[in-house]
Amino acid sequence: MPKFEYAPAPESRSIVSLRESYGLFINGEFGPGVDGRAFKTISPATEEVLAEVTEAGPADVDRAVSAARKAYEHTWSAMPGRERAKYLFRIARIIQERARELAVLESLDNGKPIRESRDVDIPLVAAHFFYHAGWADKLEYAGYGPAPRPLGVAGQVIPWNFPLLMLAWKIAPALACGNTVVLKPAETTPLTALAFAEICQQADLPPGVVNIVTGAGETGRTLVEHPGIDKVAFTGSTEVGKQIARACAPTRKKVTLELGGKAANVVFEDAPVDQAVEGIVNGIFFNQGHVCCAGSRLLVQESVYSDVLASLRRRLATLRLGDPLDKNTDVGAINSAAQLAKIRELSEVGEAEGAQRWSPPCELPVKGFWFPPTIFTGVSQAHRIAREEIFGPVLSVLTFRTPAEAVEKANNTPYGLSAGVWTEKGSLILWMASRLRAGVVWANTFNKFDPTSPFGGYKESGYGREGGRHGLEAYLDV
Ligand code: NAD
Repeated sequence: MPKFEYAPAPESRSIVSLRESYGLFINGEFGPGVDGRAFKTISPATEEVLAEVTEAGPADVDRAVSAARKAYEHTWSAMPGRERAKYLFRIARIIQERARELAVLESLDNGKPIRESRDVDIPLVAAHFFYHAGWADKLEYAGYGPAPRPLGVAGQVIPWNFPLLMLAWKIAPALACGNTVVLKPAETTPLTALAFAEICQQADLPPGVVNIVTGAGETGRTLVEHPGIDKVAFTGSTEVGKQIARACAPTRKKVTLELGGKAANVVFEDAPVDQAVEGIVNGIFFNQGHVCCAGSRLLVQESVYSDVLASLRRRLATLRLGDPLDKNTDVGAINSAAQLAKIRELSEVGEAEGAQRWSPPCELPVKGFWFPPTIFTGVSQAHRIAREEIFGPVLSVLTFRTPAEAVEKANNTPYGLSAGVWTEKGSLILWMASRLRAGVVWANTFNKFDPTSPFGGYKESGYGREGGRHGLEAYLDV
């Protein structure tokens, strides 16, 4: 299959008006940090500095928590659900109105292809607010008793892979249930959270209901350990998740953790090969593999191994890597120099441990952070690339003979976030789904998200669910 040459089709940046510097969003207003510290956020595709962002210190986090407490007690928790719903609907509509701007901003700051931010991230962000707006006045029918109460102030910390979508997963249910929030976006992708702060102003959200404090790990730690927080919601690495669990254990804080993954994507011999290959590609090369539920371990039934692998290689040779703002781009930039170093290191370990590395011919841009789509064959379960989360566009391929062996290998991981099954047989799908220890099992598809479906992990992938009726529980005193 030849790769056709396409003329560049870049999305215009002019719809985004970046400020030179951004303050913290506390009590409905942007303002400077107490100790005047700041950091720069860059475009990972070009290393261009996009803006300077305030680093919140303990005094700022304290102000944000106090603002959220005041808003909780005097405004938000006392407001009838139908009134809260109006604000959430308004926010959802403004997100739709500003969708193109938000998609461009997300691709600039994160490096993900505009096709994904435009067609996946931002529509899902709006959908999450619409969905939870619908719940705000119906909480008594959610199955948590006749008058479920909110928890109070939520401290929320999110990662850089789906910046605005993770914000929506956190803020929409918290607000729908009557909580107020202080959210810290990741240090490499703060810009869409700051745009969201403007949207809160535009929607006339009462001051203090949403507060955004920017900063790195230390700001996150200060927030989750703040005694004024009633609820901690964290998405990020398992390592930090464990630290947070330890810090919160002696407190009365309710905690939900969405952590790492090492999902198996299992292809049986009766699966339609072309569709399965699309699913494999979507499973691991979507968002450069910066996906906690990525299908990073491909398990192929031995009888179809060479067919699947040949098709997969052909398909990978057609992927276009480059400018995230180009509408033809399939694979964008790696989010940061640190993440690129981690992907390189683990890939080198894969080779050193004896697995065979392959990438299609692929020219990498000179500036910025890039890694070609890569597959490893000859991978054994003991290899680090089969056990550790790489969080990049790197697929480890293993084989199996029987369904029982597939289950055993798929579950042979400390994680348990997601899994995929490809087969024509409905009975086999159900048999597999009941045995796979994963929060989500996709059948003949992968990486499908919906605000009505609960999402979350087993084992070291964390606890608690986000989305759907189940996700409301995390923000209610039940
Ligand atoms: P990370 O844990 O280093 O950072 C995540 C967030 O936590 C960032 O905002 C960071 O500033 C903050 N943070 C860092 N140290 C902290 C501390 N001690 N206390 C409080 N906050 C702290 O993870 P990352 O490398 O930025 O993100 C990638 C990881 O996130 C991957 O492991 C991935 O699997 C995971 N992830 C999970 C999900 C999920 O839903 N399960 C979704 C996306 C990403």
